[in-house]
Amino acid sequence: MLDQSRIDALRDAPVAAGAHIIDGESRPASDGATMEVISPLDGAVLTTVPKGTATDAEAAIASARAAFDDGRWSGLAPAARKKVLLKWADLIEAEALELAVLGVRDNGTEIGMALKAEPLTAVANIRYYAEAIDKLYGEIAPTAPDALGLVHREPAGVVGAIVPWNFPLMIGTWKLGPALAAGCSVVLKPAETASLTLLRIAELALDAGLPPGVLNVVTGEGHVVGAAIAESMDIDVLVFTGSGPTGRRLLEASAKSNMKRVYLELGGKSPNVVFADAPDLAEAAKVSAAGIFRNSGQVCVAGSRLLVERSIHDEFVDLLAEAARKMKVGDPLDPTTNAGAVNSQRQLDQNLAFVDEARAQGREIRIGGSRILEETGGYYMAPTIVTGVAPTDRLAQQEIFGPVLAVIPFDTEEEALRIANGTDYGLAAAVWTANLSRAHRMIRKIKAGVVHVNTYGGADLTVPLGGVKQSGNGHDKSLHAFDKYLDLKTAWIKL
Ligand code: ADP
Repeated sequence: MLDQSRIDALRDAPVAAGAHIIDGESRPASDGATMEVISPLDGAVLTTVPKGTATDAEAAIASARAAFDDGRWSGLAPAARKKVLLKWADLIEAEALELAVLGVRDNGTEIGMALKAEPLTAVANIRYYAEAIDKLYGEIAPTAPDALGLVHREPAGVVGAIVPWNFPLMIGTWKLGPALAAGCSVVLKPAETASLTLLRIAELALDAGLPPGVLNVVTGEGHVVGAAIAESMDIDVLVFTGSGPTGRRLLEASAKSNMKRVYLELGGKSPNVVFADAPDLAEAAKVSAAGIFRNSGQVCVAGSRLLVERSIHDEFVDLLAEAARKMKVGDPLDPTTNAGAVNSQRQLDQNLAFVDEARAQGREIRIGGSRILEETGGYYMAPTIVTGVAPTDRLAQQEIFGPVLAVIPFDTEEEALRIANGTDYGLAAAVWTANLSRAHRMIRKIKAGVVHVNTYGGADLTVPLGGVKQSGNGHDKSLHAFDKYLDLKTAWIKL
């Protein structure tokens, strides 16, 4: 699949200007405004997409509402929806490399990861939920004999989905897969800096036979298009992956409008805890480096805090620095690259500001800490390891979303646990130990949606992903994802 000559042929191909997909049609913004799409590979303008207006969002919502209410999709037999969704997955699969390269040019992820994590994951997601939907049954409640209690599952209505730029197809289809399979209609808002692949798969959905209005995609700014979706009286469910401050705004918008249900995945500051009895320190270092530096740290579950037992601290940091140095950072369209570009100038500046602050506080920048490959015009940053970080430092408390690892030593299991749980977040974690009892104690006590043991970042579609505390609520992936898009309705029949 990763044929360099095919990638090179696609690398410089012109990219047509994007258009909203509203009511089954490609449309410009209502006022004709566009925004430039800047490629993080070289800082050049790749193309434009509509700079959507509230009017565009409202048109998309009205179209989704009409589609939902007339049953053109919500009223189909689950097996009929499945057929269309499977066809959609086939069309995406046939274009996987084109989509992967387009996505990389838009958001900067290294192609090796992007191909698997983006189009091919989208295909897997859509197939999984398409295959599941005609296998979900309702219930008959265990009532007394003089009544019949039926529990139906109904599509929840019109879904607003607001997604981020790091993995637009993967995260987008974590939401679109179950929402569309369930029979909902959707208004999707991609991130400003990663719209192109989502626009393309929405076109493919129409080609696959998804009726007009069932999937609308409106591009533009969060505070305009996203806010219009969040404030709408006609959106029933709002699903979001992104930052905490935006999540808070969405909850406020829900409270001030129709109290739509809001499901949030808000990132993390995930602790990666390495005990001295870890089975293989070299392996732990290699996997830990990948767990923070792949995709230049732009991964919601990234292991961005390394908690390491003091007796192995220096040895482990050396191993980690060595593993990080071996990672190839640069051109994301080179299949041998391990970490591609930072998504935007804004994100790069933010990453560097965190490092500057740590430096000013006297923390040691063990490796990295700076922009690299500036001559390309692209946004690249060296993998950065900062040691001597205090658990209360901003570097250890706030999600950076860049290739920056904060290293914190600890002496005891209790201390490790206290530091691990000492942030507002609770998305992911890892524990490296050969002691089975300790591993289970940590699994029970770490407040996070997922705790890895003797690995970092492993997962597949069969397991749910979601946070606790201020990492959010609700779950993507697995059959649990349907809970957001299917309402329970009881029928009570007197016999
Ligand atoms: P990041 O800082 O990582 O870009 P954001 O939370 O700002 O994270 O972005 C995630 C998604 O939320 C994007 O699609 C963005 O456009 C959208 N967004 C940003 N601000 C708002 C807002 N005020 N209302 C609704 N959506 C928003």
